[in-house]
Amino acid sequence: MIHRIIALLMVLLLSRITLAGERKVLFIGIDGCRPDAIAKADTPNLDRLIKEGAYSTNTSILGPRECGNETVSGPGWSSIYTGVWADKHGVKDNEFEGSNYDRYPHFFSLLRQKRPDAITAAFCDWKPIADKIVSQATVNECPTEELKGAEAYVAADEKLAQQAAEFLKSEDADVVCVYFGQVDETGHAKGFHPTVPEYVAAIETVDRHLGALLQAIAARPHAADEEWLVVATTDHGGQGLRHSDGHKIDEIRRVFLLASGPGVKKANGDPQTYIVDAVPTALAWLGVEIDPKWELDGTAFGAE
Ligand SMILES: [Zn+2]
Repeated sequence: MIHRIIALLMVLLLSRITLAGERKVLFIGIDGCRPDAIAKADTPNLDRLIKEGAYSTNTSILGPRECGNETVSGPGWSSIYTGVWADKHGVKDNEFEGSNYDRYPHFFSLLRQKRPDAITAAFCDWKPIADKIVSQATVNECPTEELKGAEAYVAADEKLAQQAAEFLKSEDADVVCVYFGQVDETGHAKGFHPTVPEYVAAIETVDRHLGALLQAIAARPHAADEEWLVVATTDHGGQGLRHSDGHKIDEIRRVFLLASGPGVKKANGDPQTYIVDAVPTALAWLGVEIDPKWELDGTAFGAE
């Protein structure tokens, strides 16, 4: 009898292992995107992910300790992609001087330390991210020159979304990072506010791109055997036409963090989160054990 029970348990355990899909991550960056403007915008794709996943609009772009960074993109994306604050990654502003990515690299490098054959891809139209922050990427797509103005970013976002969708449809991939620049550029030109139609429209456009990426994932050859987590966040909000000097301005320093995938539970209320939580969230989903030597500053949100 006992043997039968053990055999049955083995069968159940094995079937559970084969039933669980291969875990993957789509990591979305929307530069300068206020969560109150997402709430105002018509964003069916984000709305569905938010409804089905863990979502916080109480996400600080600044650490609980003073680390000297400006409320701008260089330190923001460095914190998001490395999982540590500016006193570790060293980027205080958009000059990137003093960057310490050798010691605190992009999380692709952390993943590769544990899984050397992991396939990673970055599609990004803010050139400093592709040139300076991304490392250990199988694919690193980026415009050849630094872009200027909202129109250029609108066109580049569209092209990147197409490239990323093509990649997602056909290629083997474990983690794909996609960064969109037009929301920030539109904010600088027209205003960072949910009452600014152009700013809201830029968020809606990015949501359509996200929809194309989700469709591409659904069309993957082995989609049924895969479980994708979508992580999405931003580096700062904005007030008026700017977001610098925003250490005490909630519209700038408080943003959002989303983690949505099969089995991810809704957050209780609107928990305090930090942009450095995005990397531990992605790594937790992938089953990568956090190495204490990495000195990550965040904790996983939603995913386990
Ligand atoms: Zn930015």
